[in-house]
Amino acid sequence: MRVLVIEDEPDLSQALAQALREEGYAADRALDGTEGLAKAEDCDYDAIVLDLSLPGLDGLEVLRRLRRNRTTPALILTARDGVSDRVRGLDAGADDYLVKPFALTELLARLRALIRRSTGLADPVIRIGDTAINTATRTVERAGIEVTLTAREYALVELLALYRGRLITRSVIYDRLFGDDDDTLSNVVEVHVSHIRKKLGKDFIQTRRGQGYQVGGSGSDDV
Ligand code: CA
Repeated sequence: MRVLVIEDEPDLSQALAQALREEGYAADRALDGTEGLAKAEDCDYDAIVLDLSLPGLDGLEVLRRLRRNRTTPALILTARDGVSDRVRGLDAGADDYLVKPFALTELLARLRALIRRSTGLADPVIRIGDTAINTATRTVERAGIEVTLTAREYALVELLALYRGRLITRSVIYDRLFGDDDDTLSNVVEVHVSHIRKKLGKDFIQTRRGQGYQVGGSGSDDV
């Protein structure tokens, strides 16, 4: 899952990106509205965290322009807590909002819910065979026993599970799991797949040679 943070306060931006990475998300940052809109239009993000008061383009304007061609879930961060500001944000196409100062745990929970809803999943637990992936607690059980995955392994399992039964191409995996700032050592997909198979069974992830990976089902829709 890849998230874009559009926030002009450098410390907050850095802290948010760091927190997201610790949760296993790929996180990209934009420090003004113009850069934010360009990145949001350019890349298929799973969610966007958007500050309202931004240099360049104001957050509401970023959202209005983005909504002409993208439905990426957007959560607004704002120091403006008036009802009319929240209404304007939602009317401009925001899916949720948080008023600053906010608790990081709440932001992360809201993002999980946004991403879950955008994939059409009402139940936070995805079951594939004897494996249960809990997208709320970000934990995985196999036959009722919790399996410890690294944040990156979890992110890959969740991505494949959210699109279960469908082939996920390697380029989609790279796009969704790794941000602009990730080093190359962390993004060897084959290594993560091999570790996941050791933990969840060798048949959990199916390889489609030269194409990508899939869990569950036998559908052939490409993502
Ligand atoms: Ca700001």
